[in-house]
Amino acid sequence: MIAENLNAFLSALPDQVTLVAVSKTKPIEALKEAYEAGQLDFGENKVQDMCIKAEALPKDIRWHMIGHLQRNKVKYIAPFVGLIHSVDSLRLLREINKQAGKNNRIIDCLLQIRIADESTKFGMNFDEAILIIENEKLTNVSIKGLMGMASFTENRNQIRDEFARLHKFYQEHRSTEGWDTLSMGMSGDYQLAIDSGSNMIRVGSRIFGARN
Ligand SMILES: *Cc1c(COP(=O)(O)O)cnc(C)c1O
Repeated sequence: MIAENLNAFLSALPDQVTLVAVSKTKPIEALKEAYEAGQLDFGENKVQDMCIKAEALPKDIRWHMIGHLQRNKVKYIAPFVGLIHSVDSLRLLREINKQAGKNNRIIDCLLQIRIADESTKFGMNFDEAILIIENEKLTNVSIKGLMGMASFTENRNQIRDEFARLHKFYQEHRSTEGWDTLSMGMSGDYQLAIDSGSNMIRVGSRIFGARN
């Protein structure tokens, strides 16, 4: 089932769009099935789950941290994480830089921007992001672009507007900052996101089935 979902998904995806298979809450066997179907990018939102799965699965998997990350837990994923999508503060970025240094690595990161109207969503605003990209020169992190989550709503126009704002900001800074990644779009809105310029989508339930 997972392999079929994945293949159907990938065959319809434009070449420039990377699929992150969001495997949070799913058992290792489910990830293994996706891996055997050729999937190498997996997204998790909890540090402990990511560590357990990374330990158990092949080493050529690229692990994406997509959930809110506490500073005191960065050290556990710093040795192996591929891309952290959820950098929502300068303090967190500095901690990632420190832990990356201890592991002699440069860790790829995205700045998570709050574009949704719900106050519960994590992320920084555009001004905070500008302060970071213009002032912080950290040696062991590489900011590759931006991540955003649209509002949980049936209103497609609102979702489109939110994605458009993030895409505009991305375009304004992409060449000066050397960015190449705009992570937006989930199971319910990935097509809108791709139409709005996303080149990395994070899809869980459409591949692995609904979560409990
Ligand atoms: C869970 C999650 C996803 C995937 O959600 P689906 O609706 O299952 O595709 C994408 N991004 C983030 C940040 C998530 O937490």
